[in-house]
Amino acid sequence: MIDLHTHTLFSDGELIPAELTRRAAVAGYRALAMTDHGDLSNLDLIIPRLVRVAADLGAAWGLTVLPGIELTHIPPPQIAAAAREARRLGARIIVCHGETIVEPVAAGTNAAALAADIDILSHPGLLTQAEAELAAARGICLEITTRKGHSLTNGHVAKMALAAGAKLVINNDAHAPGDLVSPAMARAVGRGAGLSEEQVDQCLKNSAELVEKALAIGG
Ligand SMILES: [Zn+2]
Ligand SMILES: [Zn+2]
Repeated sequence: MIDLHTHTLFSDGELIPAELTRRAAVAGYRALAMTDHGDLSNLDLIIPRLVRVAADLGAAWGLTVLPGIELTHIPPPQIAAAAREARRLGARIIVCHGETIVEPVAAGTNAAALAADIDILSHPGLLTQAEAELAAARGICLEITTRKGHSLTNGHVAKMALAAGAKLVINNDAHAPGDLVSPAMARAVGRGAGLSEEQVDQCLKNSAELVEKALAIGG
């Protein structure tokens, strides 16, 4: 299992990086990105601290740990600059908090995120076909989530992504230990979104590819 979208105490997660990654390793995860909620006020507080511990925790627990960020509720015109800043600070996985239907995320966030240097557009809600096509053209992954609330539009996201040829990943958006679901549950959520077994397999391959790319960029 790979989860490229998780939260620690640096935002609203329950665990510090050491415990989150330890629990992920024990739960059988082979890679995890720590992607706390960030805006232009706190990128420099969060990212360097995650960078500082990621490789050592990964080596200690036997999984790949990537420092990242989830750009969250940033006014759309500022998302590209925030992504550049996050990358400069060492974020290897940049998630942008998309237009989930359970929060008042600003209209235009999905489109601005897909024009920026991000890796994953999380819970993109009622994503349009044009947005899915932009994701496909830019190689940005769209997210199927196991998280309650955000998952209400998984079926729509899957349908749009498949029609546009955009890549999908399955993430937990883990905030607490119980959110690190089993491989069987992640697969079931993917199937519940309307994906075939083969399409779920492709999601897992997409996550593995993102990990490889992140490691290559990070040097
Ligand atoms: Zn989010
Ligand atoms: Zn999140």
